[in-house]
Amino acid sequence: LDASLMSSDGRAGAVAQVPLLPHPVSLARYLLEQDAHVMLAGPEALTLAARLGQDVGIVATPAKIAYWQEHLDETCRRLDYAGMAAAWKAENPRLGTVGCVALDAQGRLAAGTSTGGTGQCYPGRVGDTPVIGAGTYCTPRVGVSLTGVGERILVKLAAKRLADLVGDGVPLDDAARRVLDEVGPGAGLVALGAEGEMAQARNTPFMATARRSS
Ligand code: ASP
Repeated sequence: LDASLMSSDGRAGAVAQVPLLPHPVSLARYLLEQDAHVMLAGPEALTLAARLGQDVGIVATPAKIAYWQEHLDETCRRLDYAGMAAAWKAENPRLGTVGCVALDAQGRLAAGTSTGGTGQCYPGRVGDTPVIGAGTYCTPRVGVSLTGVGERILVKLAAKRLADLVGDGVPLDDAARRVLDEVGPGAGLVALGAEGEMAQARNTPFMATARRSS
């Protein structure tokens, strides 16, 4: 489980590699508010969450764990984690990240992203979601939460790329489409500008989005 959170004043929090933390974004929020460390990973992140009284426990379903145990040895021999992940996704197509962007009455933006990672990846793999600039980014102009095929989003630092395009004056919808084209198939995003303009774009078969004002 991985998550990250960033606000338009430049603060950020990110958590990676905490398989027993059901709500990693809550720990990311703690880090953002503490404004000392940006990113924590592994067992010490879990210990901190427990110390803060956050829920700790097994999130993976028994079916997912059984599938992983059955296929892992063969997958390691064939160096084919991608094949294992693809097979899992074919059987469980409606899984995915949760992303959120928000704008408050003072014009402050925040963006957050949380995921269980890509299905059936090798333990220790870190994707785009906890990496500030890859799965999440926020400036005073735009907040971005982006997900999909984490490896490609990560190497493109796609969320920051979108924010940079908007900063250069590219309209939000155009910037969103351009970034998805650059990342390639299998990605989607929500982005919210400081004027309340919103982009919801994907090049996946589905990715549900919603918008609410209050
Ligand atoms: N972007 C996530 C990752 O690669 C996967 C997902 O939830 O779509 O870790």
